[in-house]
Amino acid sequence: MFIVTIAAVCIIGTPRWLIEEVKRWCNNIGVDFRSIKKIEVKPYVKFGGKTVILPNGGFMLRINELLLKDRDVVRAVVIHELVHMRLKSRWHNDKFYSMLFTYIDEEEYWRLYERMNEIVADHLIQRLRQQRRR
Ligand SMILES: [Zn+2]
Repeated sequence: MFIVTIAAVCIIGTPRWLIEEVKRWCNNIGVDFRSIKKIEVKPYVKFGGKTVILPNGGFMLRINELLLKDRDVVRAVVIHELVHMRLKSRWHNDKFYSMLFTYIDEEEYWRLYERMNEIVADHLIQRLRQQRRR
């Protein structure tokens, strides 16, 4: 009997550079890249990135497609989500932030966080305007 493994990560719609960025930060932060079973890239309206714990114990990483035009913002989001995975916690507590800021400068992080919120909010406003016209 043969077992064929297609890919560790579902890469449909995920640009190569994003996968490389996730791999790079997995190595830096100490997260097993193979534990990320899926990277989902869609134009989400409520968040920049999200970590979903799958029933089998692996992770699904969601990255907002709207952010792909700004790779610095993507880097900040990827680091944020991988720290959640490393700590196996969804909380934004002191432990979370002290680990986060060992991988990204605090001032730079908050600057990129603002930019992320602007990109996501602009998209949401555009969608609401389109709804009003219907
Ligand atoms: Zn978070």
